Amino acid sequence: MYWDTQVTSYDIAEQMLDQMPVGIGIFALPSNELIAANNQFLAILDVYLERHWQQGKTIGHSLNEWLPSSLAEPLLVGFKQAAQQGKSLEFYNYHTTISENQVVYWNCSLEPIFDDTGRVTSILMSNSQITKQITTQAQLAEHHAIANQQYIVRANQRRQLEIIETVARSVQNSLDIETLGDNIVQTLDAYFTPLSIHLHRALPEKNALQLIAALQPQDGNADSFSYVHYDSFYYLSTAYKHHQALIRENLQTEAQQGIIPKHLPVVAAGGQGYICLPLWFNNYFEGTLTLVFLQPLAHDSIEIQTLTQCAISVAAALAHARLYTTVKQEQKRLRTIIDLLPEGVLLLDADGRISYINEAGVEIGKISAEEQIGLRAEEHPYASKSFHLDNQPTAPHDFPAVRALHGEIIHHQEGKIIRPDASACILRTNAVPLRSEDGIINGAVAIFSDITQEKSIEQMRDEFFSIASHELRTPITAMQGFAEILQMLTQQGNHLSTPRSIRALHGIIAHSQHLTRLLEDLLELSRIEHDLLFIHLKLHDIVLLILHVFESQKLITRQHTLTLVFDGLQAHDSLITTIDEDHFVQILNNLINNAVKYSPSGSTIEIGLHYNKEMPNHYRLWVKDEGIGIDAKEIPHIFTRFHRASNLDHSISGLGVGLYLVRELVHRHQGKVWVESQPGKGSTFYVELPFSHL
Ligand code: ADP
Repeated sequence: MYWDTQVTSYDIAEQMLDQMPVGIGIFALPSNELIAANNQFLAILDVYLERHWQQGKTIGHSLNEWLPSSLAEPLLVGFKQAAQQGKSLEFYNYHTTISENQVVYWNCSLEPIFDDTGRVTSILMSNSQITKQITTQAQLAEHHAIANQQYIVRANQRRQLEIIETVARSVQNSLDIETLGDNIVQTLDAYFTPLSIHLHRALPEKNALQLIAALQPQDGNADSFSYVHYDSFYYLSTAYKHHQALIRENLQTEAQQGIIPKHLPVVAAGGQGYICLPLWFNNYFEGTLTLVFLQPLAHDSIEIQTLTQCAISVAAALAHARLYTTVKQEQKRLRTIIDLLPEGVLLLDADGRISYINEAGVEIGKISAEEQIGLRAEEHPYASKSFHLDNQPTAPHDFPAVRALHGEIIHHQEGKIIRPDASACILRTNAVPLRSEDGIINGAVAIFSDITQEKSIEQMRDEFFSIASHELRTPITAMQGFAEILQMLTQQGNHLSTPRSIRALHGIIAHSQHLTRLLEDLLELSRIEHDLLFIHLKLHDIVLLILHVFESQKLITRQHTLTLVFDGLQAHDSLITTIDEDHFVQILNNLINNAVKYSPSGSTIEIGLHYNKEMPNHYRLWVKDEGIGIDAKEIPHIFTRFHRASNLDHSISGLGVGLYLVRELVHRHQGKVWVESQPGKGSTFYVELPFSHL
């Protein structure tokens, strides 16, 4: 410790002051002369002093002499203030720059020292260096700022992730494109509160984008965005072409510069930042996501980073929805096709339960789909109503679909079911197992058709052949018999003019005519079946044709009385119309022959023609008999091929073809044929044909 020579010192105090980490100096007033200072103080001073003032040379000298004025002045003001106020004065945390990169920080206090009279005679100045604290504090603040910065970055990242995750989640569970669009828009709106959001999906076949969900400005017009062609002036079409996000920092500026129209709704509503993200998924353009913000959008903004990430999941979701829709449509198309198939289609799931049956299947089985879906074979109404063709019951485990479920492939299995209305139905079924990609059977499909009619035609055809051969053989055998009689008679020297010979000759003629008619019918049948029946229309007098048929029938019909009735005209009138003569004769002959066949000897057969001038477009024929008649339930079938009524006496010959030919011929003349009949009382067959001169 250095003391002014006039100042008395105490050893202990001196030592204490020298050891103190604080610099202490005493300045006399009003001279501002440094009168005492400890080592610490002098060392501090030395930093600022010129060499010749260093190491205590300042003691006894006024502050103005040795301290640079920039430092001295504030201190002198402080001295004055402390002296005047009689209160200590503190300068905290002031700093001095020592060199370019060294700054020293101080805390300094000025303490007034009073004499006995209370006058301030000197100032005690204490200096403590706080550079370390200050730098530590600064470092701490810096660390704090960095941590804060990192915290903000992390918080932003966390939020960004949260948004991306929420968007991804919002699109996860929806495959319906509209719901999907609404979810996306709602989620983005909640996080970004933009002015507008538009989600478009691509329609590549139309080169256009279609709006699927939107958040519009109040007066926005969705229509103008609902369908945007790839070549339109909108930014979204540009974004698609460039494959990358299109960002406009401020639409308002662009509108002012005339780059975009001012009247665009988003511009008019004050939209600024704009981003359009083309949504690509696996090189497939799915659509665009466009957002307009009320604030400008910097290229490196968090919104852009987040939205770019979100776009990936939105594109994926749109792709899934698109594929799902395609698959659904394909399924629907297939369903429609299957529904319309004339064959019944039935699906069994892996558990053997019916999962689907098409309309034809329902129609064939006469049990509604609702009643069948979910049933297993053994629970099905047909479990106890199915039979093999030999009438042995078919066990449910033997049903074709059930067998297919166990891996069998069933071809053309025929069986019979008895339907709820008690009608029998013969089914032909094919069935195959359905397998998943790894080959495991996960269902079976059975395709079945109703072959009842086919079967009965088959049966009728078989019967027909046996009947036909019998029918053909009968007249031949008869003719052979008559010929043998003639041969025998001539060998005996008899003339052909004897009554026996003449009867034999008549027999031959009658049977050969019968044979001819049979063969004609068969020929006609075959022409119809091969679509070779042609109609040759010419003008004929119907009255004459009828008279001709009547006369020739009278010649061969000996057991019955034939009568002819003209209704609305006279026998000598003529009714000239276009008709195929041969077919007309065949129609009439077939009806008369049936009347002869199916009515007892001695009964009357009436042939009639009705023509009414008031209804000149048609004329009507009829053939009426007093025969066995036809049961009402047979009537709908007698005009079908090979059908013969079940109550027939089998000795009455016939092929079951005559009426079928009548109906075909009449239809080909644009006419109609029907019958009125009562069993045991007789039948009347009517034929109505158009009257025409051409
Ligand atoms: P068929 O050779 O058996 O006579 P059709 O086709 O001419 O064949 O007639 C079909 C069936 O219609 C006959 O088998 C018979 O049962 C019934 N039928 C036809 N005409 C008459 C009739 N005039 N009276 C009663 N039954 C008839």
